Amino acid sequence: MRPDFRTPRIFLDQPLQSGAGIALSRDQMNYLLNVMRLAPGSAVLVFNGREGEWRAHLAVASKREASLTIDVQTRLQPTTTGPEYAFAPLKHARLDYMVQKAVELGVSRLVPVLTQHTQVARVNLDRMRANVIEAAEQCGVLSIAAVVEPQPFERWLREFPAGRALVFCDEGSESASPIEALCAHAAEKICVLVGPEGGFSDEERRNLLAKAGVIRLSLGPRILRADTAAVAALTLVQSVLGDWRGR
Ligand code: SAH
Repeated sequence: MRPDFRTPRIFLDQPLQSGAGIALSRDQMNYLLNVMRLAPGSAVLVFNGREGEWRAHLAVASKREASLTIDVQTRLQPTTTGPEYAFAPLKHARLDYMVQKAVELGVSRLVPVLTQHTQVARVNLDRMRANVIEAAEQCGVLSIAAVVEPQPFERWLREFPAGRALVFCDEGSESASPIEALCAHAAEKICVLVGPEGGFSDEERRNLLAKAGVIRLSLGPRILRADTAAVAALTLVQSVLGDWRGR
C-alpha cells in the first residue's frame, strides 16, 4: 500500500496507541500550525520508528499549546532491514544531502568511517540524526536509520562482521557491470562503502580487496562525486539484492 503523502507527517519519539494524547514540542507545533497552517481537528500522520504509522488529529489548546490525539494505525512497522551504508564523511551540505538520500533509499544504519583522505575530522552526529528524521518524515520512511560514531577505517574494516557482504565502490576498478557483480552474491546482510572525494588510498584498496566477502563494484567509466556514488550504489544494491525487487 502506497503511503499517504498528502497528510503531514511527523516523527514522535513516544509510545503510540489509540486515544493517546501527545503534547507537541514548540518546533512541532510551529511546523503544524504555522508552516503547514493546520486547523484544529486536522489529520496528521505520526510514527516513532518502532510501531508503524498512525493517523492522529490536531487538538489546539491555544496559540502556544497544541497536542495530537492518536486515532488509528495506518501502516505496520516494516520488518525488513535495509543495507548498511559506510562512508567517508563529507563537508556540510554534501553530507546533509548524502544522509537524506541514503535514508530515502532505505538504509538501516549510517556508519561514518575516517579514511586516509577523508576531508573532515569531526562529524556532527546530531545534525546527521536530524537529517535522518527529516528525510523519513518527508518520504514516509518508518524505520529510523541508526547513526553510529565515526570510526577509523582500519579498525572498522578489521572488525567488519563475517557473513556480511561488503560492497566496495572502487573508483580504481576496471569498468565492469555492477549488476553482474551484485548478482553473483545472494548476500542477506549488505554494507555499501563509498570513499571520500580524495578516493581510497592504495593501502586501503589492498586491504579491502584482500578481505573475504568483498564485492568490488564499478559505478561506470566516469568518476562520480561521493554523494552521487551513494545514490548510484544504493540504487543498484536495492534493485539487485534489496527491497526494490518488489517482494
Ligand atoms: N578523487 C578520486 C575519486 C573519488 S570519488 C579520484 O579522482 O580517483 C568518491 C568515491 O565515490 C570513491 O571513493 C568511490 O567510493 C565512489 N566512486 C566514484 N566514482 C566511482 C566509480 N566510477 N566506480 C566505483 N566507485 C566510484
